[in-house]
Amino acid sequence: MSIVVQKYGGSSVADVHRIQDVARRIARTAEAGHQLAVVVSAMGNTTTELIELARSISPEPDRRELDMLVSVGERISMALLAMALRDLGIPAKSLTGSQAGILTDDAHGDARVVEVRPERVQAVLDRGEVAIIAGFQGVSLRREVTTLGRGGSDTTAIAMAAALGAEWCEICSDVDGVFSADPRVVDGARKLSSLTLDDALALARGGAKVLHEDAVRLARDAGVEVRAVATAGPGSGSRIASDKPLIARSVGVTGDAQLVKLRFGAVSRVEAMAAVVAAGGRMRRQVGELFYVDTRNVHGGSLRGVHPSVVFDGPAAMVTAVSSGLGQEFEWVHRGTDAILEGGVWVMQSGADGDCAWWEVPPASVQKAVDLVHQALVEPSAHS
Ligand code: ADP
Ligand code: ASP
Ligand code: MG
Repeated sequence: MSIVVQKYGGSSVADVHRIQDVARRIARTAEAGHQLAVVVSAMGNTTTELIELARSISPEPDRRELDMLVSVGERISMALLAMALRDLGIPAKSLTGSQAGILTDDAHGDARVVEVRPERVQAVLDRGEVAIIAGFQGVSLRREVTTLGRGGSDTTAIAMAAALGAEWCEICSDVDGVFSADPRVVDGARKLSSLTLDDALALARGGAKVLHEDAVRLARDAGVEVRAVATAGPGSGSRIASDKPLIARSVGVTGDAQLVKLRFGAVSRVEAMAAVVAAGGRMRRQVGELFYVDTRNVHGGSLRGVHPSVVFDGPAAMVTAVSSGLGQEFEWVHRGTDAILEGGVWVMQSGADGDCAWWEVPPASVQKAVDLVHQALVEPSAHS
């Protein structure tokens, strides 16, 4: 029997009715004859609310204790979903990340999966039950509960799909796949019915939260086929796999305003960089001595104070355009730059390499700049 992994995001399990809808959707897949491992996120905004709760007690919460707190969110949804499935007559068992064998490094709040031991999940499947796994969490080799960074339930799902040898991994969300830009924000965004894992990875690194960066990297490295679909609705979603799509090449544009710029003094540089990473920072780009660091998993800790060698250069935002080979196509890159400047947005830095072109813009203008680049590079007349 083939194994399928499905992952349901926070909006798909936001309330009791939606959890029951998800249970019915799972029942349909099980009836189609697949063994099913299901990964769930926390209900709605639970994770954000738990982080806010922690920060109301302590402005810079201890990262181990924060993981103990936020990992609770996914445990709530896994247990409720298992109950809903049992009420439909579908045997199901919920498992925490640790019980499911998700082993990680020690980086609390932004841990990396280092190994998956899927035996317990496999045993649940072999008994003919649906395995419901709490996303976003694992256990370190020191037996501490860790979390995988915001959006990390995607990573749980792909890691599990790779370990179980699943046919595919379905990421079920509130949008019908990966679009050329965030469809909630950019009017003309169009669905990319198929794209490569490399392009999806570059979009995720640029801040498109529809798929988590680590999840896409694992899928690429392990050869997992990813399908991004809407939980509700008849859409066909996007297929994301290593082989090249047969359609004309696709372009995606994304923005990220949760960056800071850092410089490192000459003393203990490597130590200072490690301190930034331990505090939840992710290195995004380096331009000369300037480092752009993603702060979305810092959660109130101050990167400014993590090490005496860290020099804080202020907040930053970046627009990234992704398309196979885009970094070499200077005419296209300039078209993007001109669009931003003509739209009245200042470009502080820019660059192009591989499949990406990027522009640093003022944080308040990032959405406008995404729109401008999307209009310039994705409109049909623009890339004939
Ligand atoms: P989930 O809770 O299901 O994991 P997320 O909120 O993490 O869902 O991701 C889905 C959201 O990603 C969408 O609601 C959409 O606003 C946003 N998004 C950003 N960029 C894109 C894109 N290029 N394509 C589709 N959705 C995108
Ligand atoms: N619940 C976690 C978050 O909100 C993980 C996830 O949704 O994937 O970031
Ligand atoms: Mg998500």
